[in-house]
Amino acid sequence: MLQRVDVEEKRLDDYHPIVGEEVIAEIRCLAEPLRSARVVHVNATAYGGGVAEILQTLVPLMRDLGMEAEWQVIEGSDAFFNVTKACHNGLQGMDLPFTDEMKAVWRRYNERNAARFEGEYDFVIVHDPQPAGLRYYQGDGAGDRPRWIWRCHIDTSHPNPAYWDFFVPYLTLYDAGVFTMEQYVGPGLTFRHLAIIPPTIDPLSPKNRPMEPDRARGIVARFGVDVDRPLITQVSRFDPWKDPLGVIDAYRIVKREVPEVQLALVGSMASDDPEGWTFLDRTIRHAGEDFDIHILHNFHGVGPVEVGAFQTVSDVIVQKSIREGFGLVVAEALWKGKPVIGGNAGGIPLQVIDGQTGFLVDSVKACADRILYLLRHPEESARMGAAGKEHVRRNFLITRHLRDYLALFRRLTEA
Ligand code: UDP
Repeated sequence: MLQRVDVEEKRLDDYHPIVGEEVIAEIRCLAEPLRSARVVHVNATAYGGGVAEILQTLVPLMRDLGMEAEWQVIEGSDAFFNVTKACHNGLQGMDLPFTDEMKAVWRRYNERNAARFEGEYDFVIVHDPQPAGLRYYQGDGAGDRPRWIWRCHIDTSHPNPAYWDFFVPYLTLYDAGVFTMEQYVGPGLTFRHLAIIPPTIDPLSPKNRPMEPDRARGIVARFGVDVDRPLITQVSRFDPWKDPLGVIDAYRIVKREVPEVQLALVGSMASDDPEGWTFLDRTIRHAGEDFDIHILHNFHGVGPVEVGAFQTVSDVIVQKSIREGFGLVVAEALWKGKPVIGGNAGGIPLQVIDGQTGFLVDSVKACADRILYLLRHPEESARMGAAGKEHVRRNFLITRHLRDYLALFRRLTEA
């Protein structure tokens, strides 16, 4: 048995006041013939990162619709997760070697996990490259005729060929591929069914549900931040693609003009991301002795509620990614009514409409300029934040995600 992840109960009706009658009715209608469908999501980690965040809500809502939905995680050693991190980077185009030994580690753990994968399912959704070999090694297991879906959360548009050529044969075995954006589908990869489904956030999760400003201020103050002075925040893993070092550089430019400004870099350490610790060290060194830079992670007690509090209290939210899958943190911040200054990468431009819901930036200097602009124009900042919240309500809430999965299931069963 693969390890099962426990999830809370959630009810679709609770989303009614936020998304409206029509959205709920459409979901119920799509779900009707899928009642009691057996669905399993498989990924690499139960905690940390966007995939875990999504599954925590998607799985319970599928259950609420009558499906037998489950979430299971694969197991791996440090060696395996080092290899899968390289795969993540290589598939996103990083120039790094993929040795025969690394390939053997990946195959070995995928084979082992496939051997432990049990049960009968109608839909098996495998998330990301780590467990992508499950379909191959499982053969015709997992019941009579499950539909196999590979859900890719990363940008494989310009992959390193050493990695891509290795992965493609495993991927083409799936009945369907799901990508965040059309242009993320790497060269030559085709599926019988392709669905484009951008990720979404749960407006009722502890991180995203509305928080009283005083409570949020109290929480942020506990981490040593002076809530009466301006605060810039970036919430993300400590990862080169997220460019925390660039955020520190932008903050330093701002600080010359607004000496009271503070910066919070908030990042959880995912269990499948060993590189995170190394990059955290680099970030801390880059920050040096500046006590107005607060570098925090889950081991400091920054959980979902605290992340929500930082997003609620901050004057400016930055997500200066150089490469990005989607950037759930952007939707989370917009949902708090905050404009976001985002790197012009991946799914960020879907969310940050330049000049309307925030600003898109390509450099440290541009990032600093936009931070200064928002700090100096609080009314405009509030107006952009309100537009951002509405943009998320229409396009990036979990109900839309659920609807898209149901529509895909229907396509696969009716095909
Ligand atoms: N996150 C968190 N605590 C942190 C840092 C991040 O809960 O200290 C969450 C964040 O709120 C978001 C997810 O982890 O929901 C990250 O998703 P995103 O798509 O932004 O990036 P990924 O890590 O998947 O590349």
